[in-house]
Amino acid sequence: MTSEANTPVLRNCIRLPLAEDELLEVTAKAKDYAIMHGAAMRSKTAFSPDSLNFAPFVLVPSSFPRKEFEKAVALQPIINRLMHNVAHDEEFITTTLAETIKVDEFTANLFNIYRKVLAHGFTQAYSIGLLRSDYMAHVYEDCAIKQVEINTVASSFAGIATQLVPQQKFVLSELGHADKLKNMPQNNALAGLCDGMVKAWDIYARPNAVILFIIEDVSYNICDQRFHEFYIRETYPHIKVLRRTLSDVHREGKLGLNKELLLGQQEVAVIYFRAGYEPGHYHSQAEWDARYLMETSLAIKCPSIHYHLAGTKKVQQALAQPAVLERFINDPEEIKAVGKIFTGLYSLDDNEAGNASYEMALKTPEKFVLKPQREGGGNNVYGVDIPDALKRMSRVERSAWILMDLIHPPLTKGYMVRPGAEMPPQIVDMVSELGIFGVVIGDADHIVHNYQAGHMLRTKLSTANEGGVAAGLGALDSPYLIDSDDEEEQ
Ligand code: ADP
Ligand code: MG
Repeated sequence: MTSEANTPVLRNCIRLPLAEDELLEVTAKAKDYAIMHGAAMRSKTAFSPDSLNFAPFVLVPSSFPRKEFEKAVALQPIINRLMHNVAHDEEFITTTLAETIKVDEFTANLFNIYRKVLAHGFTQAYSIGLLRSDYMAHVYEDCAIKQVEINTVASSFAGIATQLVPQQKFVLSELGHADKLKNMPQNNALAGLCDGMVKAWDIYARPNAVILFIIEDVSYNICDQRFHEFYIRETYPHIKVLRRTLSDVHREGKLGLNKELLLGQQEVAVIYFRAGYEPGHYHSQAEWDARYLMETSLAIKCPSIHYHLAGTKKVQQALAQPAVLERFINDPEEIKAVGKIFTGLYSLDDNEAGNASYEMALKTPEKFVLKPQREGGGNNVYGVDIPDALKRMSRVERSAWILMDLIHPPLTKGYMVRPGAEMPPQIVDMVSELGIFGVVIGDADHIVHNYQAGHMLRTKLSTANEGGVAAGLGALDSPYLIDSDDEEEQ
């Protein structure tokens, strides 16, 4: 995605460029600050379990419209409730995914677990959702936020994002701009999500039961996960966190007399999935069996299988159709507010509407992004690449994908700092994606906890389609809130 030549540039937090000697000095400090405060990751190219690189970051916080940030924050409890209601609507999930699961094996495997669990009845009525709703400001609508996606599984970076606010405040202060700190909203994402897990642990009400993190075979984003684990132990010293892969659970896990999940002798109260959202995490049937075992257990899942399915791109597309929100939200004002954050999302199912979207994509591909039912980045097809991708698919295969209007975010200018990159960093054109975290806990009839829980900002080069932080084009950041009537500071 290359931004168009006339894309507006948001006013910067401070005047750039910095003098080279000042830039070198503050960047070196910021790198050390990041490593020392755990804004870090394992290296993929030179992996060692004994060392960390700082996570790519933007030196000075990127601007984001205050009004839109506040809107996203205020909407989160409504979105939490929406997703909770969607997750508990068997008919909606089943009909929405009906075509997709005919051709998408991964979603079909998840759906099969759902079906089996439904057939036997849910052992655990409660679910916990640790959600992250992602947005970009859209320049064609006065920078109004548009939802990129909603994550219901493994919503990451709450840990590191929490550390990044003090880091960027430190940098601003070093540069003599302490007066600007007030425009960086405080971020309690880590506490918000972890306290949510502990509320679920309280509902389970067994003092010796543990919280289980389901992890990948190798966790590159280790700090973000450890922040959660360490926060829980430090804040709630009586609660233990275990980390296990799906394969470990297959080997060690079993159900007790009351269907409690046991790992050896240890009973599991809450399962927090940081893996299990992509096909590569399931090496064989063993991992699927482990997932099923957990779903049938008494443990409170984050996410439960129905929450996981509610987070698919296909469900997001269905929700954006006119009149669908009315099924899940009662208040007309709320329906209006949520409706406004959706951009055009189109089904590619093999029917009249789907075939019309197909034709539209072939005709004006530059307006769209094509998305499969996958999470974790790097799976989408953009703009001019769409026709070839679509033509390679059969009519039925298309129903595994959805089409979405491209959002056009405003540009910001700044320094992106990456491990191993040349010093000093150069000023680059960037665009940002805001993530708002939410926590929702409840059963089919009641929501017992529902709150907004902090934020994260991910910023990428404006020339990049996607900004995976570990993948190389994105960096962690925090919002610097600007008002439209702020004085020009450039
Ligand atoms: P994933 O589940 O892989 O994270 P996303 O839907 O978040 O999938 O897409 C990945 C990235 O692609 C986003 O972080 C964003 O940078 C870009 N992207 C996705 N949808 C759009 C869109 N409609 N307009 C512009 N960029 C998009
Ligand atoms: Mg995403």
